[in-house]
Amino acid sequence: MNQAALITGASRGIGRGIALELAKLGCDLVVNYASNVQAAQQTAADCIALAQTCRKKIRAEIFQADISKSSDREKLIEFTKAEFGRLDLLVNNAGVAPEVRADILEAGEESFDRLIAINVKGPYFLTQLAAKWMIEQCAHAQASATEYRPKIVTISSVSAYAASTNRGDYCVAKAALSMLTPLYAARLAEHGINVYEIRPGIIATDMTGPVKEKYDKLIGEGLTPIKRWGTPEDVGKAVAAIAEDLLPFSTGEVINVDGGFHLRRL
Ligand code: NAP
Repeated sequence: MNQAALITGASRGIGRGIALELAKLGCDLVVNYASNVQAAQQTAADCIALAQTCRKKIRAEIFQADISKSSDREKLIEFTKAEFGRLDLLVNNAGVAPEVRADILEAGEESFDRLIAINVKGPYFLTQLAAKWMIEQCAHAQASATEYRPKIVTISSVSAYAASTNRGDYCVAKAALSMLTPLYAARLAEHGINVYEIRPGIIATDMTGPVKEKYDKLIGEGLTPIKRWGTPEDVGKAVAAIAEDLLPFSTGEVINVDGGFHLRRL
């Protein structure tokens, strides 16, 4: 039986890149999206086709759910239960940037509330639901002496520690999100569930499209030791390493996928 992975915000960008890498490994997938059904269908079809080229047969099912909404989170987990009956990997990837980049002296509460709801509350409580189900599955696996090594991965950002004064709401949300991993790692270790944070740097997606020229220039000037944009595939490969259980004695870890952005240099 294939392992099953649920990836939030997998219709586009980094989530799509993660889905494609997991498809190569032969994971069944739930491709969650907010509104872009066509992109989600495309991702699912591309995952199935890519898996076939790797001689794997997978299923990839799309499901619309706004992760900031409690009822949608419940439906997303129920859908995964109904379709696959198991969950081996939750990837908390869905997230949004502020609609307008505004100076912290001017930015309003509406954008702040939106970012906290989608980027923090959504993954925090989706993880709670997934973790409870994983614990049940762990107990069943133990009773039947079958192998089951579930994992949880959260996609945060270098904005968890790098101050951008024109999108403080995003930075505050990502800093808060970074606490999710140590909390759940500490709580779930006794059940054999490892929890990781992946902290991407500047990745080429729709989210960074509007600031492409700015980042082209900064990267060209040496902002990152590895002098290129990151890709969704770069992040996907890090998630794939976790899915393959290549870090079995590590939990609560932050994995930087940022071309070395986090290094202090003199
Ligand atoms: P993106 O290209 O804008 O894609 C966002 C994805 O999230 C889409 O699949 C979107 O679905 C989904 N989504 C948005 N709001 C949602 C909601 N309320 N419920 C469920 N799904 C929702 O963004 P990205 O660049 O791939 O970013 C993915 C994650 O990586 C985010 O958490 C972001 O903060 C983080 N990140 C990005 C970068 C970067 O440089 N790009 C760097 C560091 C961290 P629809 O297609 O239906 O709209």
